[in-house]
Amino acid sequence: MLLIFCIVFTMDKTDTIAAIATAVGNSGIGIIRISGSDSILIADAVVKSRSGKNLDFKNKASHTVSYGFVYDDDKCIDEVLVSLFKSPKSYTAEDCVEISCHGGMYILNRVLETVLKNGARLAGPGEFTKRAFLNGRIDLTQSEAVMDIISSENEFAMSNSIDQLKGSVKDMIISLREEIINECAFIEAALDDPEHYSLDGYSEKLGNRIDDIIQKADILIKSSKEADFLKEGIKAAIIGRPNVGKSSLLNMLLGYDRAIVTKEEGTTRDVIKEKISVDGIILNLIDTAGIRDSDNEAEKIGIEKTWENAKKADLIFVCLDSSEKINEYDLKILDYIRDKKAIILLNKNDLKPVITEKNVKQYCKHCCISISAKNNEGIDELKSRIKEMFYNDKISDKNQIYLTNIRQLNSFIKARESLGLVKEAIEKEMSEDVFTVDLMDAYDELGKIIGESTDDALADKIFEDFCMGK
Ligand code: GDP
Repeated sequence: MLLIFCIVFTMDKTDTIAAIATAVGNSGIGIIRISGSDSILIADAVVKSRSGKNLDFKNKASHTVSYGFVYDDDKCIDEVLVSLFKSPKSYTAEDCVEISCHGGMYILNRVLETVLKNGARLAGPGEFTKRAFLNGRIDLTQSEAVMDIISSENEFAMSNSIDQLKGSVKDMIISLREEIINECAFIEAALDDPEHYSLDGYSEKLGNRIDDIIQKADILIKSSKEADFLKEGIKAAIIGRPNVGKSSLLNMLLGYDRAIVTKEEGTTRDVIKEKISVDGIILNLIDTAGIRDSDNEAEKIGIEKTWENAKKADLIFVCLDSSEKINEYDLKILDYIRDKKAIILLNKNDLKPVITEKNVKQYCKHCCISISAKNNEGIDELKSRIKEMFYNDKISDKNQIYLTNIRQLNSFIKARESLGLVKEAIEKEMSEDVFTVDLMDAYDELGKIIGESTDDALADKIFEDFCMGK
């Protein structure tokens, strides 16, 4: 209530912005969003009743939907529904109007033009959300969550962003900052007024508290790094010598023929990248050129790229042809993946086996799965193995907060470092006023996460990456 009160009395008259809020392309409906002091005035100017009468939005209640027609001067353009959100109970905390029109691109642009003609200005990317932030309705983590929800590609990313939008990260950061500022306040008070506030034994108490915060921070940093791939996807490279079935494996995983499959060796020279979801885990698959010695210039470049991609991958699928003996190239690959996260796929299990899991285990300890990329066999086992490897219990913990946004995580890491310096100062038995410097650094860095101490350039940069109309 207090927040709403503050918003109403601190908000200046703003210029009014408008944009198409729905996706580009023809669809059933499309929405023009308008926000700012003149939104309702503009709605009154452009939307009328069937007979052209004024709908008097100014006197309508907030959160109501009205039926009407958009007029460009005397010309009726579309039949619409108008949703009214009066300040401060709107997305931006300003007066907001959403006109739901028919979803053709021409008609949407035509209605937008009419709205602009009547006093609105075209909104920049993310400008509605930026206003919600600047008006204090949401913090920076919640603003970023909006964009993350839109771009989420799996259940984890979506749930995590929803939690963040509800304020999970904001609340955690606010409580941490509160703890830190209380310590600083106590130190300052004790230094100013030693008669009433004693610092005897304080360093030890502070040290214990900092230990506790650092321990929690380290868990959060670790789990956030682990969870990052669930948002961004796992880089998974398929490697093997030529003709073992790498492209067939890619096609099997995708469920359609993306890569060319031939009996001829050395056909995949360029890297093929595709994305799939394995029960919510995004795999950024990379099919690479077969590893062997080659004099062909294009193939040689392709093989170099294979090694580069293997190096960058979070997971390597090593494809072997189980109907042929392990050769020098297979051995080179098995040796390469020794300390890496990898799954060995014994392909072509529909043919007479020459090598088995037992043979492979002589060279490496990784999990082996027998498959036939040609007959789609073994795919379920492969998928459950991937889930086991990446989707462990920790990451499915519903109550855990994750900082999957790199900006937020970097600031959090810096704050953690400053707390480490406080701990060091305590151990070196330095005077209490030294602690406050690093405590305040941590406090400021945490403030950047929620947008308390964010400079305008950074805020602009964050909202620039948003889509139009959001
Ligand atoms: P790559 O060079 O490693 O990408 O191999 P390809 O996917 O192009 O396949 C090479 C050849 O092996 C093609 O003729 C495929 O049809 C064949 N092949 C791939 N997978 C299988 C399989 O599971 N069983 C059998 N019998 N042949 C396969």
